[in-house]
Amino acid sequence: MSRTDTDPTDTDLTDTDLGPFLEAVYQRFHNADSVADDPLSVPTAYSDALDREVMGFIAAAFAFGRVQAFMAKLACLRDRLGQSPASRIAGLDEKGCMAVGSGIRHRFVGEGETASLLHGIACLLRRDGGLKPSFDRGLCTNGNIVDGLESLLFGIWPADIETSLPGPGFLLASVRAGSPLKRLNMFLRWMVRDDGIDLGLWTNVPTGSLIIPLDTHVFRIARFLGLLPTRRSGPRLKDAIQLTDALRRYDREDPVRFDFALSHLGISGGCRGRFHETTCPNCPLSPVCRESQVGH
Ligand code: SF4
Repeated sequence: MSRTDTDPTDTDLTDTDLGPFLEAVYQRFHNADSVADDPLSVPTAYSDALDREVMGFIAAAFAFGRVQAFMAKLACLRDRLGQSPASRIAGLDEKGCMAVGSGIRHRFVGEGETASLLHGIACLLRRDGGLKPSFDRGLCTNGNIVDGLESLLFGIWPADIETSLPGPGFLLASVRAGSPLKRLNMFLRWMVRDDGIDLGLWTNVPTGSLIIPLDTHVFRIARFLGLLPTRRSGPRLKDAIQLTDALRRYDREDPVRFDFALSHLGISGGCRGRFHETTCPNCPLSPVCRESQVGH
């Protein structure tokens, strides 16, 4: 059978204990060096908790497409918002939001969407003093963090918002569309986990209730490890939940602990999403990666 005929999930590694290999990836990539080229570097640049929360949400909202491209837009926003971005945003009217968002476009997000996100956050800050009350309102109905995230989205951009701005568009994910909510779950990971990398600001949310922020890179690696049996080509929210449950075998209280390292295996470790003779031999997952086994 040629390599192109082979599904990497068919390679038999089912009895292998992945724990030591996941720990090895965690040890290599879960460190401050990896934060430098991660959107998490945006909120960590501030010391004030509310600045971290607000800039974390904005950084996560822009975190799609090429890393260098969205980090450049975020750097521009940071320059315009100054040292105390939360209080600056809270003081902006629509015209001010348009001035700050002027020219800040990223892929299919235009400056109107950027201004709308700022406007939605500004209204929420003036109303609730932060993002967390909206999240908590959804969370407290049944403890489901997806309900908390949906409530947060509604808090930022309620259906009855009065504005001439077009709306945040792609900057706010739709919970109902079945997408894995990668950016929202990443923001929540930053807010909840507390280990010197993630920020640990929302202490009432148990780490065990988080859902892994599943993007195509982590999705592919999870399939290579046999953690996700799906043959779907792209991730869905149910895949993110299934992968989180699979990772619970290796850390019951904090399954999302491995996310930062797995995603940086793609960024810093150069995983190309397929066997490659220069990257796979140096990868801590190589002995248990079905794609790597197929390549030998
Ligand atoms: S062994 Fe290769 S394909 Fe598998 S996760 Fe590592 S770098 Fe990626």
